[in-house]
Amino acid sequence: MDARTIFIQIAYLVASVLFILGLKGMTAPDKARSGMGLAALGMLVAVVGTLLSAEIVGFGWIIVGLVVGSAIGAAISIWMPMTAVPQRTAISHAFGALAATLVGIEHYHFHMTEFFASHAAEGLSHVEMAALGFEVMFGSLTITGSFMAFGKLQGFIPSAPITYRFQNQTNIGLFCVAVLLFIALVAIPSTAAIHPVLFYLMVAVGIVVGVLIVLPIGGADMPVVISLLNSYAGLASSATGFALQNNVLIIAGALDGASGFILSILMSRAMNRSFSNVLFGAFGGAAAGGAAAGESTEGKTVRSITVDDAAIQLAYARHVIVIPGYGMALAHAQHEVRELAEQIEERGGEVKFAIHPVAGRMPGHMNVLLAEADVPYDKLCEMDEINGEFPRADVALVIGANDVVNPAARNDPGSPIHGMPILNADEAKNVIVLKRSMNPGFAGIENALFYNPKCAILFGDAKGSLAKLVQAVKAA
Ligand code: NAP
Repeated sequence: MDARTIFIQIAYLVASVLFILGLKGMTAPDKARSGMGLAALGMLVAVVGTLLSAEIVGFGWIIVGLVVGSAIGAAISIWMPMTAVPQRTAISHAFGALAATLVGIEHYHFHMTEFFASHAAEGLSHVEMAALGFEVMFGSLTITGSFMAFGKLQGFIPSAPITYRFQNQTNIGLFCVAVLLFIALVAIPSTAAIHPVLFYLMVAVGIVVGVLIVLPIGGADMPVVISLLNSYAGLASSATGFALQNNVLIIAGALDGASGFILSILMSRAMNRSFSNVLFGAFGGAAAGGAAAGESTEGKTVRSITVDDAAIQLAYARHVIVIPGYGMALAHAQHEVRELAEQIEERGGEVKFAIHPVAGRMPGHMNVLLAEADVPYDKLCEMDEINGEFPRADVALVIGANDVVNPAARNDPGSPIHGMPILNADEAKNVIVLKRSMNPGFAGIENALFYNPKCAILFGDAKGSLAKLVQAVKAA
């Protein structure tokens, strides 16, 4: 091994360690930022190591790619709102998968043209073909799947599940066709004339499967799907690493594949949904029931509250638990939430934030927004940690959350969310909910909490209501 190769391998090893430390950092909110920094440094080391490779024949196109990619990345990170993170993640997976697939196709094309130009050249070995086939099959379905996820979340494609008869059978059937083509590609010698036909047919089937598997999935289930597609993109990259004999790609791809898969399972579990229900259940459409489904609220009335009355309750409360949800993200109200918490604390009250694992629309959604607003990390409490504190809370302040505080998950076996662990807001002495209307949340079901005599609703956009509450608590 020459000095250059040794240096590159050391760079790859350092990059891999940094990726692992980066992932470890992301397990705790206070270490997440430094974890991201380590992972970014790891990527820089990996890129520099790769640029030292002797196989690079010219830097012209690489520099063009670097400049264009960096400009797009910088623009996205500066101007993209936090609420658009899920679609941003989807589109970056689409491009990651596109890169892996194009590398795979180029690798295959190169070997094939070499072989057909001079029959003296060797075809691809079974192992090489298995790595290449895997890379291209998962890569191609991830490209279109991720573009579809992006389109649904951004509103280019209707976000409601699109269903038709025999949909699951068609999707599973087509996926099986792609797998059979993959097996055939590995089994048949790559020198056979039919081989390229099967290869490009597998790419085409993969592209179609990517579109079809995302059609029946509702927009709000997309984070689970995106994380699954992330895992596919990781596996495709890992396979690219085997095809190119590149260690850092193998390791980074495997980390990506495993973490994406674990995250999808954790998200499904926190929603009390099976993985297959997310992928094949068309949740969020008619099957989930309309707003009328869930615990019966017939004959019960909703109590609304004014800003002044809510401010008095909050100003004199000793213990307040804030429950943020998707509505807080939509209203961009995190800074006002922090201001209100500070006001209450200045008056001697204690404020804690109860974070449900699937509040919002992506894992860690609430943590990221509250951290952006400088809410101290030690005030953010996980569900298991805070649930026991609700009975002694004077006020549970629900800000744009709905499903994650719906008691039907505990009490109503017929509810679509029955069994989902929830924040026990209904056990607090008083509940104040900030929302704009009686519209349901993501699950599309009624929430009996809003009809509980202890509960009062402050109707209006959360940001505006909170700004008024801050002033009113100051004046109280
Ligand atoms: P949610 O159940 O979707 O409810 C959001 C609430 O915010 C609604 O009641 C809505 O009512 C209110 N709202 C919307 N805009 C508002 C505004 N500008 N001001 C004030 N209120 C506003 O939210 P959640 O309780 O956070 O639950 C999350 C749901 O998403 C769960 O069902 C979860 O399973 C699902 N999910 C989460 C993830 C994840 O990773 N976090 C992934 C997939 C699915 P109005 O329209 O009346 O204002």
